[in-house]
Amino acid sequence: MFEDTIQDTIVALATPEGEGGLAVVRLSGREAFPMARRVFEEGRLGEEIDSHRAVYGILFSLTESKEKSYPIDRGLALPMRGPHSFTGEDTVEFFCHGGRMAARMVVKACRAAGARPAGPGEFTRRAFLNGKLSLDQAEAVADLIHAESEASARAAIRQLLGGLDQQLAAIETPLLELLSRIEGSLEFVEEEEIAVPVDETMAILEESCRGVDRLLEMAPAGRLLREGIHVVLAGPPNVGKSSLFNALLEEDRAIVDDQAGTTRDVVSARVVRDGTVFRFHDTAGLRADPGRVEKMGIDRTWKQVNEADLVLLLSDGPGPGGGLLEGCEAPVIRVATKCDLVDSSNTNNEGMLPVSSVTGEGLESLWAALDLAVRGFKLQEAVSLGVVLNERHLHKLETCRADLRVLIQELTSGPVGDEVTGTMLAAVLSQLGEVSGRVFTEHLLESVFQRFCVGK
Ligand code: GDP
Repeated sequence: MFEDTIQDTIVALATPEGEGGLAVVRLSGREAFPMARRVFEEGRLGEEIDSHRAVYGILFSLTESKEKSYPIDRGLALPMRGPHSFTGEDTVEFFCHGGRMAARMVVKACRAAGARPAGPGEFTRRAFLNGKLSLDQAEAVADLIHAESEASARAAIRQLLGGLDQQLAAIETPLLELLSRIEGSLEFVEEEEIAVPVDETMAILEESCRGVDRLLEMAPAGRLLREGIHVVLAGPPNVGKSSLFNALLEEDRAIVDDQAGTTRDVVSARVVRDGTVFRFHDTAGLRADPGRVEKMGIDRTWKQVNEADLVLLLSDGPGPGGGLLEGCEAPVIRVATKCDLVDSSNTNNEGMLPVSSVTGEGLESLWAALDLAVRGFKLQEAVSLGVVLNERHLHKLETCRADLRVLIQELTSGPVGDEVTGTMLAAVLSQLGEVSGRVFTEHLLESVFQRFCVGK
């Protein structure tokens, strides 16, 4: 089934559509070289194509005969002979002029030469099927493309270079060895006998379980690197949430008014600071007796608070007003607003960060508190290891950990035959294998590659 999908030659624009200096059109598959010869200036690519050497020439449209075709652009053709290409197949990349038409006409010419338009992520999918990338490395390609901060780009490139694969291999290899020892002995060892001593098996399983735990600890960091850190500003009406939101953004995005209940919807904005993306959400003020419309805003505030990674709880009077956020699971930083108006020695603001959105006082300390809270999310660890877990990895790793725990439990509570141990171990390895793509199904590939863009 997989063979069929990589029989034909595919083409797509690899750079974004629109005006720009250059555009790259990618052609990949068995017929890429002969097709490139047909659209590229006669004789330029030579009889024996020189791999990885760019050739300058004219690109032609393809009408029914080459004689009637007309020039569409002038640029470079870079042929790469498989397996030494991104997809592992014969590939030609055409570097033509940017803008709407030139690249589109090059794609059209390649299609006239017999290439099929590539689907989303189809080049990367081929790279995976041809063994050039593991599945999590292919996902790292998408993460790199979608990265909004330096930290997420650095994490993605490390994963692309094999970060997560190394961690997975460290867990998988001892389990695979254990399984092969168990399976290898099944035919020779008498029934009821066991090939590997239980305490040795247990030690290997427990170490694997710890390895999976360590990876799972980095799951929140994966999401935060991909999405940014959601910080919700909450508190009673009129305490200065919108003003602080604007001060953090250094621009006027939220409406500030001295009448309570101005912000009825959630206003969101993104700030990139030291390579980390923060997503701030200004919310409707929380109070006990809101009107009907205001209540809708407050419901949204609660939704935001429940999904927040960090909450800034604001108050402009004495006392932290902590009861307002009862049940909130995210870390809360308490902020005493409008500190320019009060004499700090007179107030009872213990444990709160004094800030003034008017004078800017305390803003740096607030940023420092945010940075400190972010450190608890292990982003740096995930970046340096190249482990950016997504929902798919998380689900597989959790299942794998649950299966490992069941097997450990079984072995603890009494003798387990080699056949049963082997079967359970194979199930664990299959879950682990789906993270890297060592084990995969068509359905799995569909779900992974659907979030890629065409041309990647
Ligand atoms: P929200 O309802 O909590 O979003 O509060 P706003 O940001 O709309 O502010 C309510 C009022 O407090 C406005 O009149 C602001 O100008 C004022 N205000 C907000 N922050 C400060 C501050 O740091 N110092 C002073 N003096 N006034 C502030």
